[in-house]
Amino acid sequence: MIVIGTGIAGLSTAIFLKKKGYDVVVLSKEEELQETNTYYAQGGIIGPRPEDSSQQLKEDILEAGYHYNSIEAVNQIAYEGPQLVKDFLIDKVGVKFSCNEAGEFDYTGEAAHSIKRVLHYKDTSGEQIENSLLAYARKLDIKILSSYVSIDIITNNHHSRDTRELYKEREVMGIYALDEESGEVKKMLSHYTVLATGGIGALYKHTTNSEVSTGDGLTMAYRTGADIINAEMVQFHPTALFHKDIKGFLISESVRGEGARLIDHDGSTFMEKYAPEQKDLAPRDVVARAIYSEINSSGKDYMLLDVASYYEGEKDINKRFSRIYETCKEGGIDITKEPIPIVPVAHYFCGGIKVDLFGKTSIKRLFAVGETSCTGVHGANRLASCSLLEGVLWPQKAAEEIDKNFKPIEKNRFAEIPEWKSPKETEKFDNILLQQDWESIKLTMWNYAGIVRTRHGLKRANADLNYYTNRIFDFYNSAELRKNIIELRNGVVAASAIVRAAMHNKKSIGCHYLAE
Ligand SMILES: Cc1cc2nc3c(=O)[nH]c(=O)nc-3n(C[C@H](O)[C@H](O)[C@H](O)COP(=O)(O)OP(=O)(O)OC[C@H]3O[C@@H](n4cnc5c(N)ncnc54)[C@H](O)[C@@H]3O)c2cc1C
Repeated sequence: MIVIGTGIAGLSTAIFLKKKGYDVVVLSKEEELQETNTYYAQGGIIGPRPEDSSQQLKEDILEAGYHYNSIEAVNQIAYEGPQLVKDFLIDKVGVKFSCNEAGEFDYTGEAAHSIKRVLHYKDTSGEQIENSLLAYARKLDIKILSSYVSIDIITNNHHSRDTRELYKEREVMGIYALDEESGEVKKMLSHYTVLATGGIGALYKHTTNSEVSTGDGLTMAYRTGADIINAEMVQFHPTALFHKDIKGFLISESVRGEGARLIDHDGSTFMEKYAPEQKDLAPRDVVARAIYSEINSSGKDYMLLDVASYYEGEKDINKRFSRIYETCKEGGIDITKEPIPIVPVAHYFCGGIKVDLFGKTSIKRLFAVGETSCTGVHGANRLASCSLLEGVLWPQKAAEEIDKNFKPIEKNRFAEIPEWKSPKETEKFDNILLQQDWESIKLTMWNYAGIVRTRHGLKRANADLNYYTNRIFDFYNSAELRKNIIELRNGVVAASAIVRAAMHNKKSIGCHYLAE
């Protein structure tokens, strides 16, 4: 089995499959396996709490998602997710979460949650989860390859030399992947392939996401003909640090969950104007647009988040939010004394490769889990701390499904898949060319497919991206293969998919906000 991705979704899938007795190979395109969005998660993951109920969680997810969600997927996550955090992450993998002085879990609150139900490890929950999963996967002897960049998915229809395969149902038979160290492209055959390649935040000029989030899985699946849905639903996080030297650093929602208030440059709170009841804890899209609107009407570059004056938590601010405290301090801001300059940034992809309750895509033998997939859980806007939960539950379901219906691909069919063919003569491209294309894509996405969209802006984005696509495809065909070229080729297609979906959906809802 091949699993692409070493974030929560990829590692969890590999662990569940290995426990069922399968040989698994996990790939990361990075040299550092931890370089994932998972690692950067701060707030935490929804856990089981006796005072909470599945019905209440279900209602919160649906409310945040504008009831655009799949009811079946929401039921699955609300009724089964939190218990899996206990049974798998805590009891098996050994993930540690912060406790209060009485030794009980220190549940935290986040926007649009009707009860404090989020388990966290200080404000470095993702690092704790990622490191624990990696250690556990290594203990199980799961093979993990770093600096292996998946390029394309192999299908019988597209790649087999046996022409009869053209007329059969499309099936995935593995991938071609670039081994960055040797520069060779490897043919990796597999009975089942699982995409766990993460999100698309790196397509935007301002984002909290890791640079890995270039939409590779989404684009690879799209090229095989898999269904993609809700691609217009890109969630913007209301509060990333605004600082000339520190880019895209998240100020977790749990800071507001523990009392902090958004203020303007005169020190006045403003969220009551936009969400009279929920105020600073309104759903993310509402808060992000409120800040965007305050920034535009004031002519300032940022708004402020005041934790020093409003904090209600038990622990000292610098202990409860140690990473935020340290990072802001490095930037010259003491969050225990002064407000934090913040701006909204691209954060999470609610859309993705369409999958069912078991992570199955529309193509046989291809599964997708985690942020690259769209299970329908998030609808038009994700409830905070739901993505890590989805990233652990769907892997369990996918592994069960693969195991239940396991059917190997016959050897003679595998034998008809050719090795990768490189062009006879390849060119080396100057990084500056790639850099320029990336800058253009990121700016186009930020300006025209961002927090507030317009019909004209999207039309222009579509035209610009078509132009970049032609140019990038042209040099991709003659370029010496490297990770950054593979990512650029994927990124421009993923960006176009988002823009086209946004043009198609004429109704403003949740993360997809049309000003006209
Ligand atoms: C700053 C930040 C804070 C967040 N906080 C929270 C939170 O508190 N709670 C919550 O629930 N969610 C949070 N999220 C969202 C959550 O972290 C992500 O949705 C989740 O971690 C995604 O996990 P994943 O396994 O799908 O992808 P990732 O963790 O991003 O992993 C993607 C993997 O795919 C690999 N990959 C990609 N393309 C290729 C390729 N072509 N070939 C080989 N490998 C490839 C990458 O190398 C990487 O290993 C946060 C996100 C960010 C960025």
